[in-house]
Amino acid sequence: MNSKKYDLAVVGAGIVGLGHAWLAARSGLSVVVLDRDPRCVGASIRNFGFITVTGQRDGDTWRRARRSRDLWEEVAQLAQIPICHEGLTLVAQRPEALALLEAFKDTHMGKDCTLLTQDAIAKTCSVVRTESCMGGMYSPHELRVESRDAIPQIASWLAESLGVDFLYNCEVLDFALPQIQTSIETVQAERIVLCPGTELNGVAKRYLQDYQLSLTQLQMLRVKPPANFKLSSAVMSDLSFVRYAGYTGLGCHHDLLQRLESETPESLAAGIHLIVVQSEDGSLVVGDSHHPATPFEPYAIEAVDRLILKHLEETLLLTHYDVTHRWTGRYPVGPADKDALILAPANDVRVVSVTSGTGASTAFALAEEVMQSWGI
Ligand SMILES: Cc1cc2nc3c(=O)[nH]c(=O)nc-3n(C[C@H](O)[C@H](O)[C@H](O)COP(=O)(O)OP(=O)(O)OC[C@H]3O[C@@H](n4cnc5c(N)ncnc54)[C@H](O)[C@@H]3O)c2cc1C
Repeated sequence: MNSKKYDLAVVGAGIVGLGHAWLAARSGLSVVVLDRDPRCVGASIRNFGFITVTGQRDGDTWRRARRSRDLWEEVAQLAQIPICHEGLTLVAQRPEALALLEAFKDTHMGKDCTLLTQDAIAKTCSVVRTESCMGGMYSPHELRVESRDAIPQIASWLAESLGVDFLYNCEVLDFALPQIQTSIETVQAERIVLCPGTELNGVAKRYLQDYQLSLTQLQMLRVKPPANFKLSSAVMSDLSFVRYAGYTGLGCHHDLLQRLESETPESLAAGIHLIVVQSEDGSLVVGDSHHPATPFEPYAIEAVDRLILKHLEETLLLTHYDVTHRWTGRYPVGPADKDALILAPANDVRVVSVTSGTGASTAFALAEEVMQSWGI
């Protein structure tokens, strides 16, 4: 048994766990992070690294995204994580999409956004294919980091600068505080926060089983464009406006949905919406699709990748590129109107599950709420 007794044990070294470790350690708590894998290989390194505000569900999720975005800026500076680009260009390819963006602009969430004409889009983001675009909107809030680098960088910085201990290859099997039984040793802590991501059957099952969670599987690609191809911000297009709750919540997306159903039913069926972000080496991360994940179907579907690339080519002036990486990722989903769960089954226990594809954008604010609930 490890003789050290920590103030807080964090289960899971994904972005949600790291957020809790950061905010607890900077308040002076001794913290240990326990992860069953040799390093974080889950959703937190498979995503776009796209910290999205505009388009998030109005209410808690939008508020958390605004707050997390500021905390990301802080942590990026402290842990020397490059911000690859800022902002989001929303490209409206159909009149119905433009009408939706105009309605969004009139809400409190659209206050800092700017509606763009076709010409203005060409100036804001010169690689957008303007002949297939009616106009759009620019949101200034978004940040983009390279998740596969940023996550290990945050973990190293937490260890080196704030003295957080990390135990990898260490599955948490059960606990009766202060004892935490793991696959390698017993760890002691005053409090515990479970951030298990897609693991719905392990130590957190007893808390999560009433929430009817299931897993969604996504497909993603990295492509290498020509050397001079430069994206000035993240880019999204029409399919996103019928998926993101910040737009669908306005209740005026039905005309767009109807048109997409007749023009591109196979993309809607595969849950595709186009997001494109760029990395420091010039490569583009492109996605994604959404399918119910079944435990025995780990395979990506080539036809879905082809559809994602078709939308990429329709949206950006990009005809020559090489696909360099393809991968899948998963996240839990639950009741349609809940993007995250913070459970407090006991005074010293918290369970945090992001039940939507918003964890990179909201994790730090969720962690802040947990700390506040403990008076930390
Ligand atoms: C393809 C894809 C694209 C996405 N794009 C975006 C995006 O653009 N913007 C955005 O905001 N969000 C996005 N998301 C969602 C976001 O990535 C997730 O919401 C977020 O990463 C969840 O973080 P997490 O820490 O809860 O989970 P994870 O990253 O899955 O981490 C959970 C960790 O817990 C560990 N663990 C579980 N059980 C135990 C146990 N018993 N003992 C020890 N360790 C355990 C696992 O090993 C894992 O490392 C995307 C997700 C995917 C899959």
